[in-house]
Amino acid sequence: MDLKEKIRIIMDFPKKGISFKDITTLLKDGEAYRTAIKSLADLVRDKDFDLVAGPEARGFIIGAPLAYELGKGFVPARKRGKLPGETIKAEYKLEYGTDVLEMHKDAIEKGQKVLVVDDLLATGGTIFSTIELVEKLGGIVTAVAFLIELTELKGRECLSNYEVVSLIKY
Ligand code: AMP
Repeated sequence: MDLKEKIRIIMDFPKKGISFKDITTLLKDGEAYRTAIKSLADLVRDKDFDLVAGPEARGFIIGAPLAYELGKGFVPARKRGKLPGETIKAEYKLEYGTDVLEMHKDAIEKGQKVLVVDDLLATGGTIFSTIELVEKLGGIVTAVAFLIELTELKGRECLSNYEVVSLIKY
């Protein structure tokens, strides 16, 4: 199945010049969604990790079923103020200003191996703050996985210390 055909491209969203990769068209197609998760699982099956971690919100849509498929636990990195327990924080850059991702302090044990997942790699800022949270807790990031990679933005360069895999490249 050609998964690229299932992704809708919307030009100039959320602002002029951006070619937005809209995965909602893939997600609503049961066979395509399942193929995407199973194919991504095949790319990471041989990596050594105990947990999958992903950022709100689209990191959950890809990371949680991936963790389930592989029989691993899932750790959410959430936006500010959503987690009820004690948290740690990491800032990341937005178009204007910054935002914060949080993780529960007890989400990861020191030395646990973690696969970090998001739907899409653009500049790498979002995934980098998720990695920062995992490492602050003493977790070891053994690989980073994306459904989609925008290769021209060279997000991979800021992840050069990590093994990076992606299923669909633009
Ligand atoms: P970045 O932090 O620049 O790597 O951006 C990655 C995050 O922004 C991902 O969680 C994506 O969901 C979203 N994103 C960035 N650029 C795009 C794009 N062109 N199409 C769809 N989503 C995008």
